[in-house]
Amino acid sequence: MVTRSRMNIGKLIFPKVVAVCYIILFIFILVKIPLVSGESGEWLSIEDEYFIVKYPPGYEGDAKEALRVARIVREITMKKYPHKLPFKVEIMIYPNLPYPAVVYASSTGATIHIRCPSWKGRWGGYEQLGDPFRRVLNHEYVHAVFYYDLYSKPRGYKEVPGWFSQGIAEYISENYLPIYVKRVREILQSGFLIAGHEYALGLFIVEYMYEKFGGEKVISLIKSRAPTFWDAMEETLGITPSEFQKEFIKWIYDKFGIPLPLEYLEEDELVERYKELQQAFTNLEEEHNKLLMNFTDLKVKHEVLRSIYSKLSKKYEKLSADYSKLETTYETLNDTYHNLLAHYKSLNVSYNNLKESYQSLKTMYHRLEVSYSLLMYILAATIVTFVTTIMYLMKNRLKAFVKHVI
Ligand SMILES: [Zn+2]
Repeated sequence: MVTRSRMNIGKLIFPKVVAVCYIILFIFILVKIPLVSGESGEWLSIEDEYFIVKYPPGYEGDAKEALRVARIVREITMKKYPHKLPFKVEIMIYPNLPYPAVVYASSTGATIHIRCPSWKGRWGGYEQLGDPFRRVLNHEYVHAVFYYDLYSKPRGYKEVPGWFSQGIAEYISENYLPIYVKRVREILQSGFLIAGHEYALGLFIVEYMYEKFGGEKVISLIKSRAPTFWDAMEETLGITPSEFQKEFIKWIYDKFGIPLPLEYLEEDELVERYKELQQAFTNLEEEHNKLLMNFTDLKVKHEVLRSIYSKLSKKYEKLSADYSKLETTYETLNDTYHNLLAHYKSLNVSYNNLKESYQSLKTMYHRLEVSYSLLMYILAATIVTFVTTIMYLMKNRLKAFVKHVI
């Protein structure tokens, strides 16, 4: 029986890789190659025992670097995917390409079209991991080996799920792009395995295959002469596609540390999960009881605080009333003070007026005193004058009188 969830990997099977490769190659040959070679004239080349690097004039440095990296790529690939190609892989490097790279691979040859190693622009996200030329070349090189093994079989399936072809290319190149990890996490968290993530999901499916069954089994799966990929899987890995999917789902959820959705659990696992949940529930209940006790405790404290608050509140009201009264008293006193101040000011003015009057009277008195002294002098002088005058007038009569007497 095939359940809905188990259909998902099945959706990835579309045998479109070969067609896509040919279409891309066709467009590529039509559009790009004549352009570049037309601009740059003849292609130059350097080669060794495994590779021929073709390059436009002026890109000899890039060609040498490409050949150096190609040897590293072959060694890396050899470790997880031992192989022997009966032809040299052709690598054509371009100063510019609309995509980082594309490969045409068959049983008789392989040509990789790739941006030159010195390309400084984006490499479709591969630059995030560093070494983007190596990573992209490695990916295409694995395709070359993979399709040689697939197409050179005298019989057996030729069509593979996209996730398998892209996944093995990324797995062997160790291209764990951050976006793949993020995407797979999102897929797992959404609880569904969605088709259309051939690179991201394929990388992890192939990693699972290598970890669970070993590289030799994976390679014999590619070389299998069974009529379909899924038949080959059963034959070489000894597992049915649905079992494979079920095991992979368990593995990937575990790898990402995300709990497996219930729909993927077996009966005994469900019982186990139920027990776990029951234990968790008991724990929660204990926690709940503790919290309840704490709550009761807090409630008592709350009541105490409430009564304290109530008392304080009353005191506050009383103090507030007292304060209001004091405020009123203060205002009254303030008014009185201001009245007294005004009164004082007017008294002060009166005092100053009186002081001025006193001063003027004092001045006047002095003047009168001076006048009086003057008058006294005048009077004295008058009296002296008068007496003198009288005595002068009286002098002869006095003499006569005195003579008479004598
Ligand atoms: Zn690819």
